Amino acid sequence: MTDSNQTSVERARMDVDIACVGFGPAMGGFLSTLAAKLVNEDGSPAVESQAIPGLPPQVVCYERADDIGFGVSGVVTRARALRESFPNLDSAGIPMSVPVGEERVIYLLDPIGASRRPVAMSAADVLIKALKMAFPEERFSLSLPWTPSFLHKDGGMVFSMGQFMQWVGAQVQTAGTVQIWPGTPVSEALFEGDKVVGVRLLDQGVNKDGTPGDGFMPGMDIRAALTVIADGPVGAIGRQLDERLGMPEGNHAREWAIGMKFVVDLPKGSPLKPGTVIHTFGYPEPEIFGFFYVHPDGVASLGIFVPSWFDSPVRTAYRYLQHWILHPYLWRYLKGGTLRSWGAKTLGESGRRGEPRLAGDGFARIGEGSGTTNVLTGSGVDEAWASGVQLAESVLELLKAGKPFTKENLDAAYVARRRASWVEAEARIAEKSRDGFQQGFIPGMLGMALTGLTNGAFSLGSEPVPPHRRIPSIEEYYRGKLSAAEIAQIRQDCRAKDAPLYPALMDRAGWPAIPYDGQLLMSHQDALLIGGKVQAPPGYADHVVFLYPNLCASCGEKICIEGCSGQAIVPGENGGVPAFDREKCIHCGVCLWNCSKGRPNDPEQMLVSFRAGTGGLHSAEN
Ligand SMILES: Cc1cc2nc3c(=O)[nH]c(=O)nc-3n(C[C@H](O)[C@H](O)[C@H](O)COP(=O)(O)OP(=O)(O)OC[C@H]3O[C@@H](n4cnc5c(N)ncnc54)[C@H](O)[C@@H]3O)c2cc1C
Ligand code: SF4
Ligand code: SF4
Repeated sequence: MTDSNQTSVERARMDVDIACVGFGPAMGGFLSTLAAKLVNEDGSPAVESQAIPGLPPQVVCYERADDIGFGVSGVVTRARALRESFPNLDSAGIPMSVPVGEERVIYLLDPIGASRRPVAMSAADVLIKALKMAFPEERFSLSLPWTPSFLHKDGGMVFSMGQFMQWVGAQVQTAGTVQIWPGTPVSEALFEGDKVVGVRLLDQGVNKDGTPGDGFMPGMDIRAALTVIADGPVGAIGRQLDERLGMPEGNHAREWAIGMKFVVDLPKGSPLKPGTVIHTFGYPEPEIFGFFYVHPDGVASLGIFVPSWFDSPVRTAYRYLQHWILHPYLWRYLKGGTLRSWGAKTLGESGRRGEPRLAGDGFARIGEGSGTTNVLTGSGVDEAWASGVQLAESVLELLKAGKPFTKENLDAAYVARRRASWVEAEARIAEKSRDGFQQGFIPGMLGMALTGLTNGAFSLGSEPVPPHRRIPSIEEYYRGKLSAAEIAQIRQDCRAKDAPLYPALMDRAGWPAIPYDGQLLMSHQDALLIGGKVQAPPGYADHVVFLYPNLCASCGEKICIEGCSGQAIVPGENGGVPAFDREKCIHCGVCLWNCSKGRPNDPEQMLVSFRAGTGGLHSAEN
């Protein structure tokens, strides 16, 4: 954390009125609302810039990824806030977009017997198979005959996050009043005391450790009256603010999930209609939920969520995703399909409980990093968008009234709007909906149903603990399946090959080998190259840093290696501190929470520092 006046490097400076961090749905809502209202119909400024008098306010948005639309999401959404912003929103005008059609929730039985099911679930599986007349089981699955309304997205839309954000970017920039700069990571917020006075862009031409190298170009300081932070669930700027200002009393961000997805060309003649929405649970492990959304033209987005409360020290999303794809219920739709694109990203699942300080002197926070995502309804895009709209309306109100962006004014305008909105009302209902998962999968499902059906009046379970406190050792996790001697042998073999443990452990625990076809089922490395198109420009520092190397050296789980979405964290020398390969990192942010140890000085945080960085996925279809 740096105060703006503590810098020893000579930096260029630019003054704007509003500096924005991150261009996801939250910023889409903010900028599209603001852009249209900064000038009058005759082109004159509706309000005047403080940075450049005579012009409309100067609004600049910095996006980390190399282009706008390189985000990762599902997406199925009820699109309530989106439709308010664009009343004539028409799926036909946005590639890969279609109205929601048939919605199914499918319970997947285990067709191979390798998953770790609670006894009650195994008993239910036996019953389902025995009572085929009452429970028409089809290809190891059961379609739930009824699902509660809070899970439905009827009237909504299926789209691709990338394509949608490109469309939004075009709408926003057409107005000519705001600028979006992709490929420009913000490295930190600039402070004067507790007031945010702008942002600093990332240094270029530096070595891996951030020290100046060939062609050193210090990041510019962007001074602004208001800094809007929409850097998502794992954004470095949001977390900088959390560390500096602290979370509001009782709030914490302890629940996470990795969402990993494929975009697939379905085989010719697929019976699935565009707009079909399928959600699954029960397999490959009970804790892993799946989604399958059908776009127009025979394309589908499909993937899984692996949550931080899945108490496995080898929770690799990539291998589990392949087992999920191979489940007979899904495979009949996917056999013969081709991978178009691939991606993964962290989902902040703490919702309202993870809400940070929403506003302060000179700053406001919107989107998932501000706790908007609703884990009961499985909805994040619409809520993030709505929070951006609320902030934009507030900013316009303050600008027109000539009021400065103080905490007091932002609280009265933005925070008050948010508190009075459906986002807040629904977040309150959802707040404790997943506490049951702290006790296990079945209490978790029952708790969600209870909370949803009683509008949040009742819940099950207890407050979540930080993820690292839940992770068992590899020996504990495989007790009864693999002996300590077998695990020791696997460790030794993998260490000799500098390989992660999970393939060998899963093979030995009964998971069959993946039948690679080079088309849909392929190695992790091939998926990175073919589907993810991962690239990182040279001259930037490592953005994943192991803060306590001696603790990492003695760590037995090294779950950061097993769970790395890009195979960018690999075994280090002699099995000690893991090594990081920036070129393979897809910026999913999983290593921020996928660690088995808490920091000695702050047990809420784990041992990896996940900083602002460049590169990552280069696909606008995710
Ligand atoms: C696999 C998956 C499936 C999902 N499915 C659904 C779904 O079906 N329906 C739904 O409603 N929601 C879904 N979600 C959740 C939804 O995607 C999020 O809630 C939503 O994207 C949050 O929007 P946001 O703008 O707050 O943040 P983000 O979308 O995370 O955007 C943040 C932006 O900030 C940028 N950024 C980060 N750090 C910096 C920095 N230092 N400098 C500059 N830029 C930075 C990032 O690159 C990113 O573009 C899904 C999420 C995942 C991962
Ligand atoms: S970051 Fe260090 S402590 Fe955490 S899982 Fe990896 S090796 Fe273990
Ligand atoms: S190193 Fe990169 S790809 Fe691996 S978990 Fe961390 S952010 Fe994701």
